[in-house]
Amino acid sequence: MNQEKFSTEVSKCVRCGTCKSLCPTYLASLNESMGARGRVAMLGELCAGRLAPSKTLADRIYNCILCGSCKGLCPLGIDIPELMFHGRSLLKDSHAKGRFAKKGLRYSVSNMDTLFSLLRLIQKVYYGRGHGSGILSHMPLIASVPLKNRIQLYKNRNRAGRAAIFTGCSVNYLYPHIGESLIRILLAKRYEVVVFKGEVCCGAPMREAGLENEAKAAAKKNIETFNKTRAEAVISMCPTCTMTIREQYPALAGESITNIMDVNEFFINSGITERLELPHGIFTYHDPCHARYGTGITKEPREILKGIQGIEFVEMKHADGCCGFGGLFSMHYKELSRTIGKKKFENIKKTAAGTVVTSCPGCIMQLEYIKREAGSDMEVKHIVEIVDKAMQG
Ligand code: SF4
Ligand code: SF4
Repeated sequence: MNQEKFSTEVSKCVRCGTCKSLCPTYLASLNESMGARGRVAMLGELCAGRLAPSKTLADRIYNCILCGSCKGLCPLGIDIPELMFHGRSLLKDSHAKGRFAKKGLRYSVSNMDTLFSLLRLIQKVYYGRGHGSGILSHMPLIASVPLKNRIQLYKNRNRAGRAAIFTGCSVNYLYPHIGESLIRILLAKRYEVVVFKGEVCCGAPMREAGLENEAKAAAKKNIETFNKTRAEAVISMCPTCTMTIREQYPALAGESITNIMDVNEFFINSGITERLELPHGIFTYHDPCHARYGTGITKEPREILKGIQGIEFVEMKHADGCCGFGGLFSMHYKELSRTIGKKKFENIKKTAAGTVVTSCPGCIMQLEYIKREAGSDMEVKHIVEIVDKAMQG
């Protein structure tokens, strides 16, 4: 979004407040300046020059989770998350909490492997002794070899098709076993599988930090890498990556990865998940915000789960409610993130489910953390892990 469009959009707001009805940071704080309407109003004042950049203003714009719950609610069609991205690009030097993250992200477009190796070292030295706070304290141990640096081409005799995987940073560095599950599923269904070593971060964390140029550079690199391949689909296991690539790359980079697909969509379209069975158990599903409000993937995972024999599916109250993760948000606004997460977990627990399923590695990280704090033994799984287990019989 350029400054002219930003100015037009913020000035459209009539302060009706519809956008704050689902805003998780407003509902958790009941503070107008921490809700969608308040943030749009403050950005309007900033744009008009009546409010100067300050730490407090930056804080209010950066403590938006970027969940997108507000996006479809505005009767005037204002794209509030896009206003937040632009606002952050204007306020990034005033945001005191994000200095370290911004430095890392600036460096990471072409050096994500090095950045995660460094974080792994910090994790082992610092958290190995049980110290620390912030996101690293509840992050799983970073993989010594990222998924994309292992095998790049998984061949299949008599192949039925070819699929590429957009691993995404969370699966690549933190949950490679989820990627391995997907590879196993695809190989069992006779797909040849391509994993690109040249994949870089999708750019969402850079946008989150207000680094639009870095996000653009990441988008261009990924488009160049993935559009070279002849694959029926580029499958993503992270709704934030899928949303960023599908919805935001065209404006950021002028084009996108043409056949990017959410893993749930791919499973349904290819019939991979038909006739599966698991031992009886109660399951519930948590909607990742970027799937519900970004790509609109809500029916598919439920269809998959309800179609697996043995699964007793129970819908939770407010399945669409944010878990409070929000990437850097959970690191910079830990208490707020935790308050939102605890509320979510209360609704999950009321289903009496033994397993909560989701389709987002970030939500898994948050739900694992909250359930550990609550002393619960509930399993938190990615839908890919459920399908993999059911296929193994
Ligand atoms: S994106 Fe989410 S947290 Fe941010 S203003 Fe909108 S509803 Fe609130
Ligand atoms: S819903 Fe739209 S018009 Fe109403 S307060 Fe929010 S941004 Fe402004």
